[in-house]
Amino acid sequence: MAAPTERAHKEILAATRALLVDLCAISSESGNAAGLRRVAARLARELERHGLAVEIAEERDARGEPQPVLLARGPSTVGGHLLLVGHLDTVLPAREPKVENDTLLATGALDMKGGMAMLVGALDVLAESGRKAPADLLLLAVPDEEAEGVISVAAMRRWSERARAVLVLEPGMARADGETLVTGRRGLTEWKLEVTGKAAHSGLAFWQGRSALGAAADWCLRAQRLSAPGPGRTVNVARIVGGSADFADALGSNVGLLGTSRQLNVVSERAVAEGEFRYLTAAEGASAGAELQALALQVASEHGVSMTFTAGASIPPVDPHGPGAAIARRVVELAATRGFRLEIEEDRGGVSFPNFLAEPGRIPVVDGLGPVGDGMHTRDEWLDLQSLERRIVLFADVLAAL
Ligand SMILES: [Zn+2]
Repeated sequence: MAAPTERAHKEILAATRALLVDLCAISSESGNAAGLRRVAARLARELERHGLAVEIAEERDARGEPQPVLLARGPSTVGGHLLLVGHLDTVLPAREPKVENDTLLATGALDMKGGMAMLVGALDVLAESGRKAPADLLLLAVPDEEAEGVISVAAMRRWSERARAVLVLEPGMARADGETLVTGRRGLTEWKLEVTGKAAHSGLAFWQGRSALGAAADWCLRAQRLSAPGPGRTVNVARIVGGSADFADALGSNVGLLGTSRQLNVVSERAVAEGEFRYLTAAEGASAGAELQALALQVASEHGVSMTFTAGASIPPVDPHGPGAAIARRVVELAATRGFRLEIEEDRGGVSFPNFLAEPGRIPVVDGLGPVGDGMHTRDEWLDLQSLERRIVLFADVLAAL
C-alpha cells in the first residue's frame, strides 16, 4: 500500500485532472459571457478553498459587452504582489472532453485551462506538504485574450504596475528531450512607405518617367531581405498598391481599373506599401527602423523618386535576457532537482501577455509555465496529462521559492 503522503499526492493529481475536464466541458469561447462566468465561478470555488480572496468583476469588451475578470488575492497584497496571469476564454466553443491514456482531447485544454488547473493543483500540493504560497500572490484571469484583448491589455497594464514579478500560465512547448518555458516575446512596429515618381506615356516617353511602383517594389524586396532567421528581426511587406496617383490614393473608387487595359500605358506615379517589422530587443527595433529609413533614402535616389518611410504604432518586445531571465534559470534548476528537463524558449512568436506589461524592461516576466500539448486553436487540441502532473509539482516548488 502507498504511504499516506504518496496517496494524498495521487489524489491531488487525480482531482486536478477532474477539475481540468470540468473546466474544458464548459464552453467559454471569447464573447460567451455566460460560459466565461461559469469557468470563473468554478475556479473561484477552488481558489477560495486555499484562503484566496476572489472577486469576479465585470469589464466591457471591444463591443461594449460586460465580461467577467477574475482576481484572486493572497492575504498580503497591499504593498505589491507576485502576479500570476491567465485567460478564461478559448478560440473555439467547447466540445465534450475525451481522456485517452495520458492525453486529454479538449477545447482549451492546452490554451489554457491546463495552466489554470495546474495552479489549483500546485496550491493543493503546497498545502499537503505543509508549505505556503507567497502571501502577496495575485491571480488575474481575463476573458478576451483570444479576441481583441481590450480588457486583457488594460488589466495587464494596471496589475503589472506594482508587480514584483509576473508569471504567465500559458503553455510551454514539448521538445525532443524535455519541455520549455518562455522568456522572450517579439515586439513589433508598423510602417508605411509612400512613393511619388513621375508619370509618363510608356510608349512615347518611357525613359522620361520615374516609376513609383518600381521603386516601391525594389525597396520592399530589399527591406524584406533585412530579415534574419532564428532570433533575428523580420520585416514583413503586407500590402503594396501602385499606379496612377488617382488609383493608388483612392483605390476604393478606382478598383474597376483592375483587369482592364486602361492606364497600362502610363508609368506609375504613386505607390504605397504597408507592413510591420518584429524584433526581440528595443535596440534591435530602433536599428531596424533606422535601416529601413536609410534604405528609403538610398532607393529613392537610385530611382529618382521621392520616398517617405514612416514608423507607426508599436508594441514593445520582452527581452529574453531582461529581468525575467534570473527567475527562468531558477525555475529550470527547480525542475532539474525533480528530474524534469526544461529549456528556455527565447523567441515565442505572437503578441501576448508579456508584451502588455506596464514596463517590459523593468518587471521580471516568465511565460510558458503551463503544461504542454499541441493543436492550439484547432479541433485537435490536446494536453499531455503527464506534463500537467510534472508542472503541478514544479509550480508548487516555484511558488514556495518565490
Ligand atoms: Zn492562450
